[in-house]
Amino acid sequence: MEETPHIAILTNPGMGHLIPFVELAKRLVLSHNFSVTCIVPTIGSPSKAQETVLKCLPHGISYVFLPAVSFDDLKEDVRAEIKVSLTMSRSLSPLREVLKSIMIRTRLVALIVDPYGTDAFDLAEEFGVPSYIFFMSNAMALSFCLHLPKLDEMISCEYRDLPEPVKIPGCIPVQGRDLMDPVRDRKNEAYKGFLHHVKRFTLAEGIIVNSCMDLEAGAVRALQDGGLVKPPVYPVGPLVRTWSRIGDDDDSECLRWLDGQPDGSVLYVSFGSGGTLSYDQVNELALGLEMSEQRFLWVLRTPNDRSSNAAYLTNQSQNDAFDYLPKGFRDRTRGQGLILPSWAPQIKVLSHSSVSGFLTHCGWNSTLESIMCGVPLIAWPLYSEQKMNAVMLTEGLQVALRPEVNKSGLVQREEIVRVVKDLMTGGHGVRIRAKELKEAATKALCDDGSSSKALLEFVLACKNKIGR
Ligand code: UDP
Repeated sequence: MEETPHIAILTNPGMGHLIPFVELAKRLVLSHNFSVTCIVPTIGSPSKAQETVLKCLPHGISYVFLPAVSFDDLKEDVRAEIKVSLTMSRSLSPLREVLKSIMIRTRLVALIVDPYGTDAFDLAEEFGVPSYIFFMSNAMALSFCLHLPKLDEMISCEYRDLPEPVKIPGCIPVQGRDLMDPVRDRKNEAYKGFLHHVKRFTLAEGIIVNSCMDLEAGAVRALQDGGLVKPPVYPVGPLVRTWSRIGDDDDSECLRWLDGQPDGSVLYVSFGSGGTLSYDQVNELALGLEMSEQRFLWVLRTPNDRSSNAAYLTNQSQNDAFDYLPKGFRDRTRGQGLILPSWAPQIKVLSHSSVSGFLTHCGWNSTLESIMCGVPLIAWPLYSEQKMNAVMLTEGLQVALRPEVNKSGLVQREEIVRVVKDLMTGGHGVRIRAKELKEAATKALCDDGSSSKALLEFVLACKNKIGR
């Protein structure tokens, strides 16, 4: 049997989960001498983006895709959170087999699961293996999740109807309408499923969170203060991909185009691994970008009027997105912008000297990547906890501008022009903040930084458990 202590990690297949899980695995292997198996449940065949991330893993990390789960029994309009949760719970049988085979070969010392994977705790317990959660978002969102069971008992109306903002210790107050998606409708199964998981957070031996004291001092301190009954929290972030570690994304056209632009002149526009806009919104965004007269690199997906995260769990390429752009738009903006269908090598883009702004859906990985590159943001949240992130980024960290959404839920072209011009031709305050936050986050990751210390604490706690 292999003597190196082994950790199994169970992520969900969304890129926003897979990428930080893989980064955590790299830290555990390269800095702390564990070996790791990444276990990835699937829905269809793995996407190119997933394969790109998994095929350039360092020695000591292996991966296994679980057999695809079926959603044939689900209604077409079922919410993404339900699918994410079912992807995990419907994969428990093959997970059991994988854990068994890992235990024959190695000394399995921990199972680290995705926040939607708490049902796997029972399996870990059966095998006598301590389980932990890796919460890939920020400390504020984690704190909200840990307080949710209490809020659920205390509040009877829909959260969006609350007259006052929700105040979580150490965090910026958030209006009910800006809370995370799964709590949007308390009658929906998505809410019940989410509550089921967050109630089980307290069963974990510890929770690792992808943030740091240097970015979220208030929230992190409140989490570590012990006011809540909860396991220890380890803020180890930002765990983001750095471009030197990325394999062969198909990126030559995009990087060549960026090479040809003046320094600090390009706005990068992307809505994460699966964010989609409505047909009308794509039209407004296109015209707004054109009218702003600023250079842009836009990752465009086929619009969808029913869902803002239509491509989230698949992120398969769609090549018809260009058909939905306003007539003549591509010809008129040929010298001004580049449009990529579906996917960009984001870290390489954000690290490029010509990029100086990021219009983002505020996914936490995208946010951290931008911060690590010192690039200020335009906050355009779509789903999940992104509205909370947008509040934190604009009102708390003050590193982002946020456009107004009109009564029909549309950001109009004039508003897009305003905010894009504000960021790209001015944006002095947010630009300085972006540089400050980059320094703070980089410091946290140094050998004696707060995040490295927190990861070491997790490692020691983990080793201590084995010793008992
Ligand atoms: N990403 C990328 N290229 C794209 C879109 C996304 O490399 O065109 C990566 C991005 O760098 C980030 C992840 O996919 O690491 C998306 O995670 P995030 O939390 O920002 O959003 P999600 O997709 O989970 O909503």
